[in-house]
Amino acid sequence: MAEESTANATWSRMLAGNRRFAEGKPEHPWQDETTRESLIDRQNPDAAVLACSDSRVPPEIVFDAGLGDLFTVRTAGQILDDAVVASLEYAVSKLHVSLLVILGHEGCGAIDMAARELDEMIEATTAEAAGSLEAADAMDDLADRIASADSIMLRTAGISVWQAREAELDAHEDFERVHVAHTIEELVTRSEVIQDALAHDRLMIVGARYQLSTGKVEVLSF
Ligand SMILES: [Zn+2]
Repeated sequence: MAEESTANATWSRMLAGNRRFAEGKPEHPWQDETTRESLIDRQNPDAAVLACSDSRVPPEIVFDAGLGDLFTVRTAGQILDDAVVASLEYAVSKLHVSLLVILGHEGCGAIDMAARELDEMIEATTAEAAGSLEAADAMDDLADRIASADSIMLRTAGISVWQAREAELDAHEDFERVHVAHTIEELVTRSEVIQDALAHDRLMIVGARYQLSTGKVEVLSF
């Protein structure tokens, strides 16, 4: 319970920082010499953030945070691999962050790429099949085909795009939102450390999507 309120307080503070940033009134907190010196021997970040590597989406700027505030991991399309999972597990088990934010964003090029690769795979799958029945069978196997694709982006973000389309969510922003949900699900499935922290109320995970056009972070609920 105590951890949950810590996590909620951290998230509120991050959202307040994002409001300052979006309103053009950032305070750039904790970026001075004194803070740097106070952090030489230790770090005690409140939150870990998994975000896209996109140059327009740096979490420290978007949340108007400072040195020692956020433990960040960034990959294109905030996709997971063993290194990402290990880094987030480090934040949870060694740094004891109580909040983990999975942050997607508007206009994500990596999701775009995954959507295009998915289209190409669907086209190739349909073209290979001789008749409509065969095509239907091939489409049934599509999830397996995506999961075993050579392209990492297709295997990770592509599966999210496919899930969104299966739920008749066809807009790019829907792909981005579903991808955040799918990434959380995948992370929890893959990591016993994170499962354990969630089970003991030591960790809260939130999904969010940064809007380039407004500077605001949209909180996602699933
Ligand atoms: Zn992106």
